[in-house]
Amino acid sequence: MLEIRKISKIYETEDLKQVALDKVSVNFRKNEFASILGPSGSGKTTLLNIIGGLDKYTSGDLVINEVSTKEYKDADWDSYRNHRVGFVFQSYNLITHQSILKNVELALTLSGVSKRERTRRAKQALKKVGLEKHMHKKPNQLSGGQMQRVAIARALVNDPDIVLADEPTGALDSETSKQIMDLLKEVAEDKLVIMVTHNPELAEEYSTRIIRLKDGKIIDDTNPYDGKVNTREDLEVERRKSKKTSMGFGTALSLSLNNLMTKKGRTFLTAFAGSIGIIGIALILAMSSGVNNYIEKTEKETLATYPLSISASSLDIGALRSDREGQADVECETQSICTIDDITNNLLLEMTSSMNSNDLANFKKALDDNYGGIDDYITDIKYLYDLDLQIYSSDYNTDIVQVNPNTFSVSDTVISEYNTSGLEESQNSMLAMRNNVFDELIDNQDLLNGQYDVLAGHLPQNYNELVLVADENGQVPISVMYSLDLRNREEIQKVIQKKQAGEDVALDSINYNYDDLLGITYKLLLNTDYYEKQNGIWVNRSKDEKYLKSKLDKATDLKIVGVIKVNENAVEAQSGFVGYTHELAEFVINKINNAPIAQEQIKDPKINVLTGRKFEGSNLTYETVTKMLGINDLANPATISIYPKNYDAKEEIKRIIDEYNSEQPEESRIKYTDYVGVLMNGITVIVDVISYVLIAFVAISLVVSSIMIAIITYISVLERTKEIGILRAIGASKKDITLVFNSETIIEGLVAGVLGVVVTMLLCIPANAIVGSLTGVNNIAFLEPKYALILLVISVVLTMIAGFIPAKIASKKDPVEALRSE
Ligand code: ADP
Ligand code: MG
Repeated sequence: MLEIRKISKIYETEDLKQVALDKVSVNFRKNEFASILGPSGSGKTTLLNIIGGLDKYTSGDLVINEVSTKEYKDADWDSYRNHRVGFVFQSYNLITHQSILKNVELALTLSGVSKRERTRRAKQALKKVGLEKHMHKKPNQLSGGQMQRVAIARALVNDPDIVLADEPTGALDSETSKQIMDLLKEVAEDKLVIMVTHNPELAEEYSTRIIRLKDGKIIDDTNPYDGKVNTREDLEVERRKSKKTSMGFGTALSLSLNNLMTKKGRTFLTAFAGSIGIIGIALILAMSSGVNNYIEKTEKETLATYPLSISASSLDIGALRSDREGQADVECETQSICTIDDITNNLLLEMTSSMNSNDLANFKKALDDNYGGIDDYITDIKYLYDLDLQIYSSDYNTDIVQVNPNTFSVSDTVISEYNTSGLEESQNSMLAMRNNVFDELIDNQDLLNGQYDVLAGHLPQNYNELVLVADENGQVPISVMYSLDLRNREEIQKVIQKKQAGEDVALDSINYNYDDLLGITYKLLLNTDYYEKQNGIWVNRSKDEKYLKSKLDKATDLKIVGVIKVNENAVEAQSGFVGYTHELAEFVINKINNAPIAQEQIKDPKINVLTGRKFEGSNLTYETVTKMLGINDLANPATISIYPKNYDAKEEIKRIIDEYNSEQPEESRIKYTDYVGVLMNGITVIVDVISYVLIAFVAISLVVSSIMIAIITYISVLERTKEIGILRAIGASKKDITLVFNSETIIEGLVAGVLGVVVTMLLCIPANAIVGSLTGVNNIAFLEPKYALILLVISVVLTMIAGFIPAKIASKKDPVEALRSE
């Protein structure tokens, strides 16, 4: 059944060719006990290894059941070794970190036998060699004879046709040798046993045939065989036994796990070193997640009610708001607010402005109709109108001073009087002060309380009550105080002229005691109050002091009842103005709209009430006149502020506005900016960028640990060379060997990853406790499960990549050489 036809084996080394086998031809019976005798170096082991498929012949042919092996591929040899051949070595070659039972089972795991069947057959084989009692021991807990019996059990477990034994008794005493020989003789009853020995006595006593080798040639054969009788049964066996072998991932893992368990200290240290990079990245991710969560939470909790404000047309006055740079630090006295110089610093500031316009009448209609169910997401909608409150200093009897709109403005080099009609808005080179020092306060009481602290007095409770709004340091721009007529205006005009002449002058800070501010009153006129009907047309009499005084006598009193400042926690809250209530705005609009001049103008939009002539053909339009008179169409607000119920509602509102826009023609689309969202997104982006930069640095440690794992794996390959040989001898393929070492790195990577994640989670506990007690911000470090998982995967993948080359080296090892290694 086994024919060796003129097989030669030549070892080529650098300087010489060593002929180990020289055209050896010999046939073997299906079952016999053949002994190969010969001096050392005569080629016995070489012959045995070639028969067992461990070594490749240089020329000739090995024919198994009439099938030549010339065309055998690696996989065929693997299968042949696994199913057809059982090896017994002089040095036992058991895998030391596996139990006896596992050692015997190994060949079966390669042929894909089920776990239960595997154990049953392994136990059976161990029983046959009389070792079933020792099956849970490790090899080094057995005697030499016992180990050799385990090796025989392993050789038999797969029920091979051929058992090859290379000096199986070479390391045993004569008594034990006899036991082993008895066992092999028994095996030979139904199998082909080929045994190499240099003990002629044992060969004579036990074997049925003795073949003598010398210098790679057969010099004697006591029982030659030339028959090639192959029964149909043999050929059937041939077909059945040429199944492919393959190691399961579980077997590979268990082999590596057991191996790693024998060197726990090293495994742990390697994994720990590997985990440092993971810990670094995990900590950074935990921190950035925590910070981003905190930002999101802040946005949700604190800023949810901050409105989306949409203006009909808005001038971007950003340049004027950033007027704090390069200012001397000013500290306010107790019970006072104080001023900061926004005038001399801004004199030469160019203002960049951009206009955008929105069709708010159409949008308001949609809101009134509860477009898209938007009401469900809104706590309040405020409509602001284009309204310049006409406010005067209350001591008008000595000198009439209009404080709003600001009559005090700086345009280029000239300080010009602001036109009361509001027609002459200087927009090119802008003044250093705002025209309107009076602004409507946020109407949402909760939000107002959340954004401002009351320093003195109280918030307005009546339509005619005002508050002065300072910034978080209790300061207001000095221009506000001049505008409010709380400073002498000539003083500033002189300073401005000096500054423009190139002198380095500045305005000193001034303190205003709360008590001095509370109770200050102003007079409120209506735009329509300036006009008086004379001879059928309405005449502007604002330049007539007597007329103005008579109106001021009857004017509504406005009173400062409180001083408030921007809260420390407030985001982007406005300051530096006098705040009035929405009630006052409504009061003024209603009064203006009901004034006779307004009624007359609205009734006949074609005729200009100021001239009595048609608008057609004149320079003025209906719109300019109504604006001048302060008439507001309640259906067409200047600004719409939408207060969302919560953060999610805000997102819904934005979605509904987008939906609205998609249905509108280009010119009616609403353009808006969610300032809070933009601000918060900005911070989130910064946090992310910082995190990524840090991660890039920490990633270097991952590279280092990967190199280290590559080295450790390579050392492991060197240490496990023998095991590689054993595995190959029992039929493991190159791929299987790769798998064994890959699973070793997978385990290392997994341990490193788990260690990294667990250590990070543990570190988060004190980090959170410290940050929590210092700042009151809880859970600032939090490793999201998703990141933990990603890091685990990265750790495993990196170590696998690191172990890839060592694993390849392992798989390429020559099995014969591997077995020879110690
Ligand atoms: P035996 O088992 O009979 O002692 P071997 O079969 O091991 O002898 O060796 C036969 C010859 O081949 C010896 O001369 C040995 O030095 C040589 N040989 C064996 N393996 C190699 C090898 N890998 N490279 C070179 N020469 C080898
Ligand atoms: Mg030998």
